[in-house]
Amino acid sequence: MTVYDELGVRTLINAKGTATRLSGGIMRREVAAAMVEASQACVDIAELQAAASRFIAAATGAEAGYVASGASACLLIGAAACITGLDPGRMARLPDTTGMKNQCVMVRSQRNFYDHAIRATGLRIVEVGLPDRYAGAGVRDAEAWEIDDAITDATACVFYVADAQARPSLPDVVAVAHARGVPVLVDAAAQLPPQDNLRRFIAEGADLVAFSGGKALGGPQASGVLAGRRDLVMAAALQHLDLDVFWDMWSPPPMLIDKYRLKGAPQHGIGRSCKAGKEEIVGLLSALQLFVAEGDAARHARWLKDCETIAAALDGFLVTITGSNDIAAVPAVEITLDPDRMSPTELCLRLLAGEPAVALDPALRDKGIVTVNPMCLRPGDAEVAGQQIARVLRQF
Ligand SMILES: *Cc1c(COP(=O)(O)O)cnc(C)c1O
Repeated sequence: MTVYDELGVRTLINAKGTATRLSGGIMRREVAAAMVEASQACVDIAELQAAASRFIAAATGAEAGYVASGASACLLIGAAACITGLDPGRMARLPDTTGMKNQCVMVRSQRNFYDHAIRATGLRIVEVGLPDRYAGAGVRDAEAWEIDDAITDATACVFYVADAQARPSLPDVVAVAHARGVPVLVDAAAQLPPQDNLRRFIAEGADLVAFSGGKALGGPQASGVLAGRRDLVMAAALQHLDLDVFWDMWSPPPMLIDKYRLKGAPQHGIGRSCKAGKEEIVGLLSALQLFVAEGDAARHARWLKDCETIAAALDGFLVTITGSNDIAAVPAVEITLDPDRMSPTELCLRLLAGEPAVALDPALRDKGIVTVNPMCLRPGDAEVAGQQIARVLRQF
């Protein structure tokens, strides 16, 4: 009997990808074992975060790093760091940003539901650019000069959502922001693979970058990585760590927190609700190590094999494997349905109601396509998912 049986909660085969709604992905046994081991001894959490900082710095090329409860959490504490710097009074007052740099410049087409995380700090988003797609005449998205134009004395940071299609390019955004002395905070939550992206945004000049620990990295679902400038990571750490301490007894690891740069110890900060435990921190580091060791080619081959297994089970239906030649991509199986026989919605719902339940990705349903994503499949899941999908398709 599993813990889920005991709770009366059904498990499902996740062929949708690392969706938080479906509990994210599957951690490797080694990662789970590292978390269990971490849970069996107490440590000074700042010392553990300092070790994480060294580890993340080595993996990303950044000066420092930190672990919080998700990419979203990392964006929140990263944005807070850009607002407050190392001023404990400001840290205490957030999300009241009166009298502080409290604006963030962001390309309008990059606005998304995750930007709640940065707005939660009291930052006000100043949108630039008009990606005219509906009138039919628009050809441009925001341009670097428009970001420059929107930067004022009240600008705490430029917020950039990384994506292969994002415009302007990150180096162009960094150039205008840095010319005005403004840091660039990057949401790269889902930008792995390719593995190069661990280093790429930092190399392109980003001051802080957030990655999700629970997506392709294969870490704990409630973990995220913040990588970047030492002073900003220090400011983020100070607003996240438990600081119920006496100043004269407080000796945080200097490479993470140089306490002599502070006029006093801040109180608990705005990031306190983004807590990561020792289990998440250790699990994330274990996953990061395995992710780097596996490499894009082996990971892609593993995912592609599952896609091929599923495509083979669907012989006779209109099925294509996307991303099969690009090791930087996540390959997927696209099933194109005959609208006279079954809609994408119906296929997804029937599979979810099946035994075992299989969750597919309906994002392309308006094009008549259902997608099978291999990222969260366990060994053997592809065979079962393929049979389940074929069984439902053959009924119509
Ligand atoms: C998934 C995602 C996030 C949130 O990541 P978590 O680790 O779940 O907090 C933020 N931004 C983007 C663009 C994402 O895709």
